[in-house]
Amino acid sequence: MTLTAELEFDARATLGEGPCWDAHTQRLYWVDIEKHQLHLYDPATRTDRSFALAQPVGAAVLRKSGGLMLALQQGFYGFDPDSETLTHLDNPETHLPENRFNDGKCDPAGRFWAGTMPLCETKDCGSLYMLDTDLTVHQKVTGVRISNGLAWSPDERTMYYVDSPTRVVTAFAYDKATGAIANRRVVIEIPDGMGYPDGMSIDAEGMLWIALWDGAAVGRWNPLTGALLAQISVPVSRPTSCVFGGKDLDELYITSASTRLSAEVLAQQPLAGGIFKCRPGVRGGPTWEFAG
Ligand code: CA
Repeated sequence: MTLTAELEFDARATLGEGPCWDAHTQRLYWVDIEKHQLHLYDPATRTDRSFALAQPVGAAVLRKSGGLMLALQQGFYGFDPDSETLTHLDNPETHLPENRFNDGKCDPAGRFWAGTMPLCETKDCGSLYMLDTDLTVHQKVTGVRISNGLAWSPDERTMYYVDSPTRVVTAFAYDKATGAIANRRVVIEIPDGMGYPDGMSIDAEGMLWIALWDGAAVGRWNPLTGALLAQISVPVSRPTSCVFGGKDLDELYITSASTRLSAEVLAQQPLAGGIFKCRPGVRGGPTWEFAG
């Protein structure tokens, strides 16, 4: 089955990423990593507000106590969008100034997981970290090249994770009570010609919706069998991530990038960097919030 995503907002992002649905206000946070901006998009008015952050921003998540948590190049921060105040919490990679934080998301217990990547994109010196609710940082996975999509199964016993250049999705046994992960295994292999797995979200049936960088699509996979179930065609080559939104969590918002595309390619993709939307016919899981 192939669905088609429509343009929702012509954001002209350089590296649009990290869509995070705010169910309280029915708005979408997202980031432009390379423009160093957090964005807040309101589908009701189709308007967008940006916040300048002065360094690359990999991920933004909601905080239950108010405001957001951010993974910036220089570590974990709290952010109050009303006063635009940043509060530095911790940087686990002061020894790796050529790394930056990339994709991140909260788990069902409200811990903030975010991974890093080398700016060169060729070394495996990235890691996946977990910011616990007591604000301690824990290194969970090492040897990562481009840390990307994260998702937790509806039964909250499995964590899925993407290191993009590997072109696979791996799964871990996940302990919600402690945040421990174990028994890593490959569950999905992206077929040749479909690009690289990037950000992802999970639906209420436990199926993964994975943005395919250089694949011009979002694919729906069954992580229990590895089977590709459906695709959403996107009119740009570099969709980057997706999240379920809308009051019934039945809309899929898709971010995209225009970075490092030639002028010739960009001329063929005038919507590159836009935010797209699709009704995939299934409800999504919730966007978890940071509980610390
Ligand atoms: Ca990404």
